Amino acid sequence: MGLLNGKNALVFGLANDRSIAWGITQALHREGANIGISYAGETLKRRVMPLAEQIGCTWVEECDVTKDEHIAATAEKAAARFGKIDVLVHSIAFAGREELTGPYYNTTREGFKNAMDISVFSFVALAKAFQPILNPGASLICMTYYGSVKVAPHYNVMGVAKAALESSTRYLAYDFGPQKIRVNAISAGPIRTLAAAGVGGFRDMYKHFADMSPMRENITIDDVGNAAVFLASDLSARITGEVLYVDSGFNIVGVQMGAKEENRE
Ligand code: NAD
Repeated sequence: MGLLNGKNALVFGLANDRSIAWGITQALHREGANIGISYAGETLKRRVMPLAEQIGCTWVEECDVTKDEHIAATAEKAAARFGKIDVLVHSIAFAGREELTGPYYNTTREGFKNAMDISVFSFVALAKAFQPILNPGASLICMTYYGSVKVAPHYNVMGVAKAALESSTRYLAYDFGPQKIRVNAISAGPIRTLAAAGVGGFRDMYKHFADMSPMRENITIDDVGNAAVFLASDLSARITGEVLYVDSGFNIVGVQMGAKEENRE
């Protein structure tokens, strides 16, 4: 018996089989959830459809979260197919490549607005649009990164957006609490995905992470998927407004000692 048997779960932000959304989708499916998948733009459709087929998912809808009418139509279609929703995963972010390199102060007004709109406001907008069809006990989950609380060079406006996303998670958790709907964020360590490829110096950061995290390991989309199962399931019934780190412990280390300190034994 799966932990999510009988639950209806929608995942937003699937681009390809490296996407964090794919790790989450597979894990939710494994635990028995009925899955709906949403993606952005026609060009991604040919990558997303075969993935949906792999798990027997037939509800696959395009939703560009910059468009209110897309969000409203997606909520309507979800209501028509599933009736009520128990799990909604937001695994979406965007910032222009030029904003993700060099100094943060070079962020443009347009770049700032886009990053905040797509990476932050969309979570709030989805929460509002789906509110009428969320079951009591439903779980909303978004994806964040440690660059929200500490400086990660080049992460720039995305770090600021993630700080706003984490704050939005707390405000939404407060709003939805009386309906017994929970809202949490997962803060994942670096993973090689399409979105990550846009961050300047990502490759070095990725390597540094494996050297410096207490567990000396990078994380996978499956690790994030399993954490999402926990937050989606009744096992986390009284947990809301939290940021759950899935990062081999990287965020607990205050002082990085460098490779020479490697031999701890
Ligand atoms: P990804 O490129 O696979 O996913 C990002 C998704 O955002 C894509 O599916 C893209 O289509 C979607 N998106 C962008 N603009 C959109 C729009 N207007 N409407 C709808 N969808 C849109 O990369 P990923 O790394 O799996 O990113 C998923 C989430 O995980 C993001 O929030 C990202 O910031 C977060 N995250 C990633 C890492 C990492 O290292 N990869 C670490 C921590 C958090």
